[in-house]
Amino acid sequence: MIESTGSFLPVAEPDIGSLEEQLVVEAIRSGWVSSIGPFVSELEEKFADFCDSRYGVATSNGTTAIHLLLVACGIGEGDEVIIPSLTFVATAAAVRHAGATPVFADCDALTGTLDPLAVEHAIGPRTRAIIAVHLFGHPADMDALATLARAHRLFLFEDAAEAHGARYRGRVVGGLADASCFSFYGNKVMTTGEGGMVVCNDPELDAQLRFYRDHAMDTKRRYWHPAIGFNYRLTNVQAALGVAQLRRFKEITANRARVFSDYRTMAGEAELRLRFNPGHEWASPIPWLVCAVLPEVAEPRQRDDLMHHLRSQRIDTRPYFIPLHLLPPYQHCARFAADATAALIRTESLAARGFNLPSSGKLTSADVERVIEALAAALRHSGSLEPV
Ligand SMILES: *Cc1c(COP(=O)(O)O)cnc(C)c1O
Repeated sequence: MIESTGSFLPVAEPDIGSLEEQLVVEAIRSGWVSSIGPFVSELEEKFADFCDSRYGVATSNGTTAIHLLLVACGIGEGDEVIIPSLTFVATAAAVRHAGATPVFADCDALTGTLDPLAVEHAIGPRTRAIIAVHLFGHPADMDALATLARAHRLFLFEDAAEAHGARYRGRVVGGLADASCFSFYGNKVMTTGEGGMVVCNDPELDAQLRFYRDHAMDTKRRYWHPAIGFNYRLTNVQAALGVAQLRRFKEITANRARVFSDYRTMAGEAELRLRFNPGHEWASPIPWLVCAVLPEVAEPRQRDDLMHHLRSQRIDTRPYFIPLHLLPPYQHCARFAADATAALIRTESLAARGFNLPSSGKLTSADVERVIEALAAALRHSGSLEPV
């Protein structure tokens, strides 16, 4: 295979501008470098507002946001939480950290988000909550999940770590459940380096989240800790970065949207037998990662061959997440072994056919063209997947 001399195209890179620099310097000069400071409160207020929610509680990352939320809701030992298997491992790890058991439900074949019917099958006497993950920027079917949660008296949470600003039937994610968690990791749509947030509308939950985040210290009596808490706080310096990112959010996502639309146009012109970010008409996804999905007839090896070819051209890719029920710590967490209706067939199929392409808002049309040409060349090699 011919090695490419083109520049390396990463899957993700943060979009940091001069406003970020200015506010971070301001935070450092103010002396408020730890977790107390005006940028933390500003980020919490503005981000909650951005999610059409009343309260925002900033956390050290997205994983701690989910763990904190579960603990604050009293979910723990003996409880089950239904989650998708096709998600980043943090969703499941947080459930285990809380002492509860994740139960995996199969996904929607198009988007990889929770399939409400599969969720219904997974509900049992110990189920306490459902965590819907808005995978790769595409929202889950929240109305159907909310109906289920209400009927079975379950908590419904959103893991919106990959979907800041995405909309479901016109409503912004983060405000569609009892509470929602976000990540501000460096590869997400907006970043604070490391960071996260829980948003909700319930003042009591907001108080519980702050209580557990800050060492479970009584707000009226210093050094009185009636429970075991955490230090899951975000620093003022990180929050300054987040405030700048939020102010530039439209600009950041407009750049990414341009790149996504280049992919669609050029893939269409090249007649590639790949689907790019498949979605439902009721969704307005946020452009997070460019997703390419091979047709159902494809063999897993063909996806891996494509990725290998792109790597030889200095084009970075990521396979879809390995389904969590296949990982050693989570193999025993599923009820599906005893129940054929709960098999994770669509999850396994989609996970084997999907991969992510360079998605940075800094990519030029020429960069995208290079990726599309590399894909077309690789598909020509791969027998049954020749361009139609
Ligand atoms: C990134 C991510 C998380 C975890 O966020 P961190 O900030 O990396 O801890 C959780 N869930 C999903 C779906 C994610 O993509």
